Amino acid sequence: MTTPQHCPGFEQFKSLKSFTCNCPKCNTPKEIFSDEFDKPHKCDNCGEEIDFTSCTYDAGN
Ligand SMILES: [Zn+2]
Repeated sequence: MTTPQHCPGFEQFKSLKSFTCNCPKCNTPKEIFSDEFDKPHKCDNCGEEIDFTSCTYDAGN
């Protein structure tokens, strides 16, 4: 068996979650990962700033 047990960074990648928030202006969904949560994000469509901290995480209920 030569399969590596761990890749560098794998543990970190495994802990990342993705979040999706809709643009408040044009309602285009924007997806980020949890390590980008505190960074500023802009809508890919219209450039409106999206405040992910005010976004509720949709757990799919
Ligand atoms: Zn937008």
